[in-house]
Amino acid sequence: MDLPPFARRSTREWQAADAAHFLHPFTDHQALATKGVRVITHGDGVYVWDSDGRRIFDAMSGLWCVNVGYGQGALIEAAAQQMRTLPYYNAFFQTTTPPATALAERLAAVTPAQFRHVFFSSSGSEANDTVIRLVRRYWDLMGQPERKVIVSRLNAYHGSTMAAASLGGMAAMHTQGGLPIPGIAHIDQPHFWAHRHGAAKGLSREEFGVVAARWLEEKIAEIGPDKVAAFIGEPVQGAGGVVVPPSTYWPEIQRICDRHGILLVSDEVVCGFGRTGRWWGCETFGTRPDLMTFAKGVTSGYVPLGGVMVGERVARVLIERGGEFEHGYTYSGHPVACAVALANLDVIEQQQLVQRVREDTGPYLAQQLANLLDHPMVGEVQSCGLMAAIQLCRDIPLRESFAPEIAIGMACRGHCFDNGLVMRAVGDRMIVAPPLIMTRAQVDEMCGLIRQALDRTYAQARTAGWVAQAAG
Ligand SMILES: *Cc1c(COP(=O)(O)O)cnc(C)c1O
Repeated sequence: MDLPPFARRSTREWQAADAAHFLHPFTDHQALATKGVRVITHGDGVYVWDSDGRRIFDAMSGLWCVNVGYGQGALIEAAAQQMRTLPYYNAFFQTTTPPATALAERLAAVTPAQFRHVFFSSSGSEANDTVIRLVRRYWDLMGQPERKVIVSRLNAYHGSTMAAASLGGMAAMHTQGGLPIPGIAHIDQPHFWAHRHGAAKGLSREEFGVVAARWLEEKIAEIGPDKVAAFIGEPVQGAGGVVVPPSTYWPEIQRICDRHGILLVSDEVVCGFGRTGRWWGCETFGTRPDLMTFAKGVTSGYVPLGGVMVGERVARVLIERGGEFEHGYTYSGHPVACAVALANLDVIEQQQLVQRVREDTGPYLAQQLANLLDHPMVGEVQSCGLMAAIQLCRDIPLRESFAPEIAIGMACRGHCFDNGLVMRAVGDRMIVAPPLIMTRAQVDEMCGLIRQALDRTYAQARTAGWVAQAAG
């Protein structure tokens, strides 16, 4: 492979330079410097390679984004061609570029009927920041400026800027930097396993779904219905642990939002573009959001792009009564990013990826993962399209959680890495979100690697005495 001059270094040299200069996101820098960073050098399809030449199955699609896999020629060509033609021009001051307007039109065509307009950003965080401004602007224009509070959920992930991290419900993020900002409230998540000894005790998943949705109604009553502007949620919570809600949850949330006139915002940054087996998570779960944020899968991560789909309810008010909307980014509608997104949509459509996930690979993955339920350390598996969670627990039939200080998820993740698989740990929940181009054979390969990692983790747990010793 032809590497540019800067890339010709040994792993050790990379690790030294990295520890000296690169502050990584969501990373304990001291711990990483001691351990040494892993250097990923190239990718193809569902695989990436590290600087020692080892092939790794990327079951996380990078960070939930490389949906069409690595090395898609159409995206690469689209970027190169657009860079030659016009690498940048802005969308401020009454101008546009062909890729930006063409993508806006295309997004309107692939989203539910209420969406005809888009506001572009370069990331999911910026898209969710934009949501806060849009929602509050909408209620100002509607003559209800006291409607400011946005309700979100614990363990939600909506990004990492001040506003997006506030919308999110990650406790660890809130402990740093004085978050959340005012005007954000949180309710608990519809997490059947986590609530199995509490709110979900004795209930079916469906019964629990209604109970969890009613937490929104209780929160609205507490805040005052005339002060609540919007509810935001990921159809399936991604970074929170691939929490697939009971089928009853979202319809009940929709009913509550309708009843109180509250805007519904669907954060589709992970679920959008086919991940759940429909174009949008809201279609899988049966809601009609007023606003919808996207990023990640829109370009399959090849270049940064995000945005907000603005439904007609909000768009009409903003356009007809709003005057100038005092908000925007230098890279809103970046022509290279939009050209790549258009090529990405072509690949999704030509390869019928959404349909494949819904009818073929999604159900097949669910079936293969269900085989893991015989493993002594697997408490539940949950999947939706091509995103899945494997809940670790102490031996079946105990099904008790491990003590947090054991960090069993991190132990399992270590065994994955050592065995050529990227799987993420969220507490004791192992999660995957593989590229949507994956084949059945690759589902088998991934599930085989997962089982090996579970076996190795179990062996380690037995040796360490974290689980019951075998009875002879
Ligand atoms: C990743 C993510 C974001 C933030 O996107 P960035 O591009 O990292 O800013 C927002 N919402 C969800 C659901 C995400 O998974």
